[in-house]
Amino acid sequence: MRANTEQTEDGTDDVTGGAARRRHAAVRAAVEQGLLNDDVPLVALLDVTGIRQSAASLRAAFEEVTAPGTPVLHAFAVKASPLVPVLRLLRAEGIGAEVASPGELALARAAGVEPERTVLDSPAKTLAELREALALGIAVNADNPQELARLDALVAGADPRSPLGIRVNPQVGGGSIEALSTATATSKFGVALRDEGAREWVVRAYLDRPWLTRLHAHTGSQGIALSMMARGVAETYELAEEINRRAGRRQVDTLDIGGGLPVNFASEETRPTYAEYTRLLKETVPGLFDGRYGLVTEFGRSLLAKHGTVVARVEYAKSAGGRPVAVTHAGVQVATRTVYAPGSWPLRIAAYDAKGRPKEGPAVVQDVAGPACFAGDLLAQGQELPLLEQGDYAAALDTGAYYFAHHYAYNSLPRPAVLGFAPDGAGGVTFATVRPAQPIEEIVTESGAAHTDALTTLATAPPV
Ligand SMILES: *Cc1c(COP(=O)(O)O)cnc(C)c1O
Repeated sequence: MRANTEQTEDGTDDVTGGAARRRHAAVRAAVEQGLLNDDVPLVALLDVTGIRQSAASLRAAFEEVTAPGTPVLHAFAVKASPLVPVLRLLRAEGIGAEVASPGELALARAAGVEPERTVLDSPAKTLAELREALALGIAVNADNPQELARLDALVAGADPRSPLGIRVNPQVGGGSIEALSTATATSKFGVALRDEGAREWVVRAYLDRPWLTRLHAHTGSQGIALSMMARGVAETYELAEEINRRAGRRQVDTLDIGGGLPVNFASEETRPTYAEYTRLLKETVPGLFDGRYGLVTEFGRSLLAKHGTVVARVEYAKSAGGRPVAVTHAGVQVATRTVYAPGSWPLRIAAYDAKGRPKEGPAVVQDVAGPACFAGDLLAQGQELPLLEQGDYAAALDTGAYYFAHHYAYNSLPRPAVLGFAPDGAGGVTFATVRPAQPIEEIVTESGAAHTDALTTLATAPPV
């Protein structure tokens, strides 16, 4: 196996080969333009072309299967990449926002995402959050009966501006990653539909509240089979049909089918595709697309993951117990899941030389380590790639979602800059700052510098 080989046999060569080519050009340009150097040994890159392509293929996949005129809102799950310029780019691509906290809502608003293109989920919404969402006209999916009681009080017999629904858990089962399985029997999310009396409770909740017009489920994520996701959607659809039958009208007018399309971290190939998923949905739940229901989707990882790359300089190259180890500047702070759960979250590493060119040479089994002070801080263990040497660059691929945008402040390591890149139209690459690198002074400030004597003076403070 040669590292950095473009996968051209898989039928998606244009897009994936293109992605690898764009990445090679970007790493080279980042080194040449001095964005990576001795003093800046770590940077995160976002492929704007790739993000636009994924957004377009998401839209196209649903256009292919929906009846003309069906309202479809694609709401990007902000938690996958909580960066304002990313949300703005997606908005320009016709994609809204799914938010799950006051912070995420603030990010979506900062990016200019309209309230009518925003959906609020989260299992722990406070009364104040619910009040704000309703005041703004943002769609809300109630997670549980207690939250629905809060909505009752806020709606208070009036006709709410916000589209409102209930999140259900069809309990179709889990996938290969326990922590990301939202539809197990005991999942913390939504109303567990197969529990005794729960289904009838949900139906009654709708019959008693004419303003409940949506139904929500999010059963997928990394590690879940497409067929299981489709079954989750099918169960949700059947429930909507039952509610509408018993209401004698089309009370539920919109189905929010969640996100969760898995991402292939093993190669350049984008698989499964949105089109594969929508075709399977159409086969499994044909009624979903016949125009009677508006649709909301909440994809996160699948829109961004393959378009992000963490590039880290090899500070030292050493050997231990016969194994080469490249000590880089990317570790647990930018790849937390991979470091703590490497079995579930393996990352591909690409080797680049000191000039940012794809590194050639025989594949050597080696470890790629991070800068943090614990032994498990490894980006990759026993991976085969051209031998990394001091001054080279290790690139952690497919890290555009849930990686560098999810900084973990171990060892007070600073957040790296995030740069978007695109062709400059003259054969080169141009960069834009998405998020600047975190200055060390900011770490000091965030770490209580304004309260330096808080603890030394506490004992002498008067009792309260
Ligand atoms: C996390 C989440 C998503 C997005 O999941 P991905 O796996 O990133 O696509 C969508 N909806 C809800 C409610 C979520 O919690």
